[in-house]
Amino acid sequence: MTVAANLEEIRTNIRQACKRCNRNPREITIIGVTKYVTIERTEETIEAGIKNLGENRLEGLLEKYNTIQNRATWHFIGTLQSRKVKDVIDKVDAVHSLDRKSLAKEINKRAAKPINCFVQVNVSGEESKHGLAPEQVMPFVESIDNYENIRIVGLMTMAPHVKDEAMIRNTFRNLAVLRGTIQDKNLEHAPCQFLSMGMSNDYQIAIEEGATHIRIGSKLVGTEYE
Ligand SMILES: *Cc1c(COP(=O)(O)O)cnc(C)c1O
Repeated sequence: MTVAANLEEIRTNIRQACKRCNRNPREITIIGVTKYVTIERTEETIEAGIKNLGENRLEGLLEKYNTIQNRATWHFIGTLQSRKVKDVIDKVDAVHSLDRKSLAKEINKRAAKPINCFVQVNVSGEESKHGLAPEQVMPFVESIDNYENIRIVGLMTMAPHVKDEAMIRNTFRNLAVLRGTIQDKNLEHAPCQFLSMGMSNDYQIAIEEGATHIRIGSKLVGTEYE
């Protein structure tokens, strides 16, 4: 399948999901996750109209960035080691995996401009997942208010890998509630207006629960290129 054909199907699904919950599809940003695919397929993704790309590893980001540069807006969506911050931070607009103070400190130090950060939350409490426990999020957000290059624009989570739709929905719903409690604080460094949640298998549920940024890999670009 071409990326354009996949995108058309995804956009139809987004429209339908938005209709069910009375939202405007313009509120939803699609981040094309290109971690599985080649430069050629990434180019095709841009040509199909995707402006936001996501990579979860430094090596993948650098490889793609070398040729694509600022023809896309880059999102770092994977676990970020502090020592690698200096290599990625001037290339990305957003980091979706802020989960510790030492990382915030390093981003703040290395960035030349404010970076849009999503705090990663492990809503479902699975041991295998990165991110802060929900109760840790507010103290964390409040603790980094003197970092001029960190702007907390939202929260990010990954739903558990299960069939049970109610469990997935609950994860997203809890993240939306948590966002509300942060927004209510009116913190200047943490407007926290966005929710980065929803991937290939659960983005429609995520949209119904308020997602503003969906991160789609396999259903958009496929996985057959690596
Ligand atoms: C790989 C990845 C995605 C996309 O996954 P798909 O299921 O292929 O859509 C989204 N978010 C993160 C953090 C990822 O690592």
